[in-house]
Amino acid sequence: MNRMLRFGVRATASVIMMSAHAFAAEPVPAPKPLAGQTVTGKATASPLPKPKPGQTPDADNSPAKKSASCDLSGVDFESIPPVRGEFSGDAGCGIESPVRLTGIRRESSTVVLKGSVTVSCQFAKTLSQWLQDDVLPVAEKHFDGGIKSIATGPGYQCRRRNNQPDGKLSEHALGKAVDISGFSMHEGASVSVETDWGKDTPQGRFLKDIHESACARFTTVLSPEGDEFHKSHLHVDIGCHGKSCTYLICQ
Ligand SMILES: [Zn+2]
Repeated sequence: MNRMLRFGVRATASVIMMSAHAFAAEPVPAPKPLAGQTVTGKATASPLPKPKPGQTPDADNSPAKKSASCDLSGVDFESIPPVRGEFSGDAGCGIESPVRLTGIRRESSTVVLKGSVTVSCQFAKTLSQWLQDDVLPVAEKHFDGGIKSIATGPGYQCRRRNNQPDGKLSEHALGKAVDISGFSMHEGASVSVETDWGKDTPQGRFLKDIHESACARFTTVLSPEGDEFHKSHLHVDIGCHGKSCTYLICQ
């Protein structure tokens, strides 16, 4: 999609963008369950419980069958059994086909994802392609040797948007989002979203470049420019905004 069209969509969606902005905003990642929340699957795997009344049972909950379908290229990952968390009173969080990402490979180098990232297979494809095709090459333009490791949040977190006690689930709760707080480069430089955002330095220009490329791949990109909740990280997700899922948020 070209830039003009994307901006056109954004302009049309301005009202929705404002409300979605509030939905998508959340503070620094902190894998903390909400009060009253039963978490049977945190960032790691857990058995899928029996469906409750009102929930749609899966046709096949076999972890082997589900996890076998994730086809990721140039990614160090493992498929893990479905994860499920829930809030009391409503159907909740979970990922049917989760993967745990630990590294991204490009040519002969591997970039380590510190702490690993648990996300849906679907999100993993978008994330890994962005990192491989956009972020890693851009890093090599700004820093000799490119990226050594990336600091992220856990990806999956069973919580609501904006960490509010009620309201819709965060995209993190569906394995469709991740927060990125910084990068370590092979040459020794480091990039901190909190410290370097907006600066006219290699770090600042690198962050600006990858923010722009993220907006071409994800439906939501929130930076320190977005709001006070994102001063320390970039949030990217593939959530659906609007009835037709065509609205984009790039802040
Ligand atoms: Zn986030």
